[in-house]
Amino acid sequence: MIATPPYRVLFPLRVAKSRIAGLGAYAQGVIPARRKIGDLGGVIITMKQARALIRNKKVINLVELDNDLALNASANPNDIRFINHSCAPNTYMRVLKNRVEFYSLRRIRKGEELSCNYGETHHEGTLPCRCGAANCRGFI
Ligand SMILES: [Zn+2]
Repeated sequence: MIATPPYRVLFPLRVAKSRIAGLGAYAQGVIPARRKIGDLGGVIITMKQARALIRNKKVINLVELDNDLALNASANPNDIRFINHSCAPNTYMRVLKNRVEFYSLRRIRKGEELSCNYGETHHEGTLPCRCGAANCRGFI
């Protein structure tokens, strides 16, 4: 068993219907550029456990960490998990040994939806992207 550290959201977010897909996370106030927004909530599991969850389709939100570990963001969740993919994002994700941090790429206005470019980590390029960005690559 690996201890899961406390994961905190440092800027209050509001979860509401997304302009991109499903639910989204919106800034409740201004978030300055290059600030840590928070850690993705979750539980640390082994990659073996992660693969079993994927096989049984029990997990929709999973980030691979170092040392054969993964963060299962479907358990012990927080609002960060509602940050949707965009090809023109306003946040970026930093994967550390035992947590996944989100930072603002630029100043984010109050009420703006947060988004992150999840790159190839997502659906192997088979899911149509609806982010609406001018440089949208079409699939995630
Ligand atoms: Zn896109």
